[in-house]
Amino acid sequence: MELISVNEPLLNGNEKKYLCECIDTGWISSEGPFVKEFEQKMSASVGRKCGIAVSNGTAALEVAVQALGIGEGDEVIMPTFTIISCAMAVTKVGAVPVLVDSDLYTWNMNVNEIEAKITSRTKAIMMVHLYGLPVEADEILSLAKKYNLKVIEDAAEMHGQTYKGKPCGSFGDISTFSFYPNKHITTGEGGMVVTDDEELAERCRLVRNLCFRKDVRYVHDEISDNYRFTNLQAAVGLAQLERLEEFVKRKREMGRYYTERLKNIEGLMLPITNTDYAENIYWVYGLVLKDDITVDNRKMQKLLAAEGIGTRTFFWCMHEQPVYRKAGLFQNESYGNAEYLARKGFYVPSGLALTMEQMENVVLAVGRVMEKVKSGQI
Ligand SMILES: *Cc1c(COP(=O)(O)O)cnc(C)c1O
Repeated sequence: MELISVNEPLLNGNEKKYLCECIDTGWISSEGPFVKEFEQKMSASVGRKCGIAVSNGTAALEVAVQALGIGEGDEVIMPTFTIISCAMAVTKVGAVPVLVDSDLYTWNMNVNEIEAKITSRTKAIMMVHLYGLPVEADEILSLAKKYNLKVIEDAAEMHGQTYKGKPCGSFGDISTFSFYPNKHITTGEGGMVVTDDEELAERCRLVRNLCFRKDVRYVHDEISDNYRFTNLQAAVGLAQLERLEEFVKRKREMGRYYTERLKNIEGLMLPITNTDYAENIYWVYGLVLKDDITVDNRKMQKLLAAEGIGTRTFFWCMHEQPVYRKAGLFQNESYGNAEYLARKGFYVPSGLALTMEQMENVVLAVGRVMEKVKSGQI
């Protein structure tokens, strides 16, 4: 049986050519010329002045939080339903994630819950765009203005997406990207912080590189980490960026195909195609089981694996993370929609290398498994 992997990237542009250039010239470290070129082109693509490439998207969030000076006792408002990278960047500096629930249909944070969570300790709102539709940025920007808060925008899944016609990655005081292989463009591992604030960008460069003091190397006023990004990664990134528009177009075609073929299967909620402010770019193609389906996403994952289909469950909520519960965080908190998505949501193969035939097989397998589930055979 052919296994269809949940994500296979497409690397058949200039990746090999630029990588060979690295090898031929000997420029492989973070000092190589492709790094600056990639920073410049990537940040310009979302209309930002500065780009600081880092080792991954998690690192980008860590650099952003540290560069903003968020620390001990500060609070950062974010969705509970997200990847742990968001919360970890905050807890690592001794600050506290303050959580809000999700919208059941866009899967993004419910912006109407934010204002009630603002206290005198709130320093920032972390706006995390998830799965392909942007968060309602205007609401967050106006709250940030009203209460004098910073906005950290996690655009890890949003390359090429816009909100009311403006690029995602252009909304935060500081915004971050990931180039993990399941993102619309990849560098294997990689990430970037973008901002218009030159001073903040300089802080990010310092934090990226162990906080080496500028005047005397090997002397440190502050602790950070080595978050550097290599010329090899930048070589792949430049080749990928050349094709961003094509990739977004393809992802949308794939999304439309899945929607067309899956919409008649009862028991599944499909991703929203359009909102007033954006057209879905399907970071991955997610499905959510309706309440009358008794199995959960972990069971679906097993059943689809038996059919040769790779899937992943949705994120697990921050307030339900054992590591944070043990540390005494989020006691007695519950967020109904987020908990539902975490238990009932999963995504099917969505990589750019997927063929039409493979997508057809995914659709048929989902149909067969749903029939079994609904008929009570499972
Ligand atoms: C992928 C992702 C990250 C983390 O990126 P890595 O490069 O895997 O560290 C952060 N936030 C969101 C929303 C993501 O999807």
